[in-house]
Amino acid sequence: MQVFKFGGASVRDAESIKNVASIIAKYQDEPLLVVVSAIGKTTDFLEKLTNTFFKQSGDPFELLNEVKKSHFSILEQLFEDRFNPIFDDIANSFVEIEWILEESPQDGYDYLYDQIVSLGELLSSKIIAAYAASVGVSSRWIDARDFIFTDNTYREGKVDWEKTEEKIRAELPILLDDYVLISQGFIGSTSENFTTTLGREGSDYSAAIFASCLNAESVTIWKDVPGVLNADPKWFEKTQLIPELSYTDAIELTYYGATVIHPKTIKPLQNKKITLNVRSFLNPDQKGTQIKSTNQTLPVPSFIFKVNQVFINILPRDFSFIVEDNLSHIFNLFHQHRIKINMMHNSAIQFSVAVDQTGDNIAAVLEELEKRYKVTVESGLELITIRYYNQETIDRVLVNKEIIKELKDSYTCQMLVKNK
Ligand code: ASP
Repeated sequence: MQVFKFGGASVRDAESIKNVASIIAKYQDEPLLVVVSAIGKTTDFLEKLTNTFFKQSGDPFELLNEVKKSHFSILEQLFEDRFNPIFDDIANSFVEIEWILEESPQDGYDYLYDQIVSLGELLSSKIIAAYAASVGVSSRWIDARDFIFTDNTYREGKVDWEKTEEKIRAELPILLDDYVLISQGFIGSTSENFTTTLGREGSDYSAAIFASCLNAESVTIWKDVPGVLNADPKWFEKTQLIPELSYTDAIELTYYGATVIHPKTIKPLQNKKITLNVRSFLNPDQKGTQIKSTNQTLPVPSFIFKVNQVFINILPRDFSFIVEDNLSHIFNLFHQHRIKINMMHNSAIQFSVAVDQTGDNIAAVLEELEKRYKVTVESGLELITIRYYNQETIDRVLVNKEIIKELKDSYTCQMLVKNK
């Protein structure tokens, strides 16, 4: 069996949804489970709505109505028959959120976030399942929250693999014999049946969870790029498609910030030797990239650019060494505030990191750090990572840049730079 994942860009409007349905139709004769993200930028919008509601800083209903309008406009373009039950189904999905918004916020932010933001995937999956059925696909909508179980770390649910696998294996193989199953990425539920999310961009991970539990042959992530490229075309001219990639290289690339696949996706697939394809929904006949067990190293150097980086330099106030207890305190602070360290370096008396400039969270960490350490901060930097680097590639990216920090191992070079 196969698992397909369609991201927000692939289902951003009625035309795109028709295209997705035609891809599904083409593969429907083999067992297929499809995971979809929220339509277009719906998740960003629902995130904004949650903030407005939580801070009581505006009218969340106004924002919800925008989401309603855009989804109903898509429905009207997809279904001529206004009596199709999907219209009621979508209207009812909104009612559940309206109930939450009618009261003032009683629960913590992360919990509310998951109850509200999960709406995006519920809407898109229902619309796509109904549309696929209307064009002759034997499709069936399933609620990912009945199958993917997590702890109650809201916004970053940790998967209970044992329970998830047991439920998926018990119920889905038989359905897959008769139906193309269409489910949501990004969401799961706790043992008390509260909705959780798996972290932003987590739909790829959902596809990997279903695939691993079902021992799928492959997962295909359908994207608006031809496959995995050796650099993001946003930053680089003349990018090259990588036709085949080892799991290890893929893990390394995503770890350093390549956004083509969610970092948590690859490990469960590697464990079961499930091939991960990255293909273009714009050119569905092309093969794209295959990520699998291979000794082949990347055929070309790969570049990853991260802008808006902050460099934080931490020195103990009493000039003592940076040792394990300092380090564990520092790591804990970053972990508690959910800040991912993109680059780190330590010497005898200082520890430095580069992290994304993310507003409130950084300010809170700096305040804590300053209680115990001397801290200096430099912002507006760029982090460039080259996998399989050589001097030529380094020179190429350093034009008009000055290096603030550089780290190299045999395969990977990371440079934190600023404009000259
Ligand atoms: N819709 C979610 C997000 O935008 C999950 C995903 O698309 O992967 O983060």
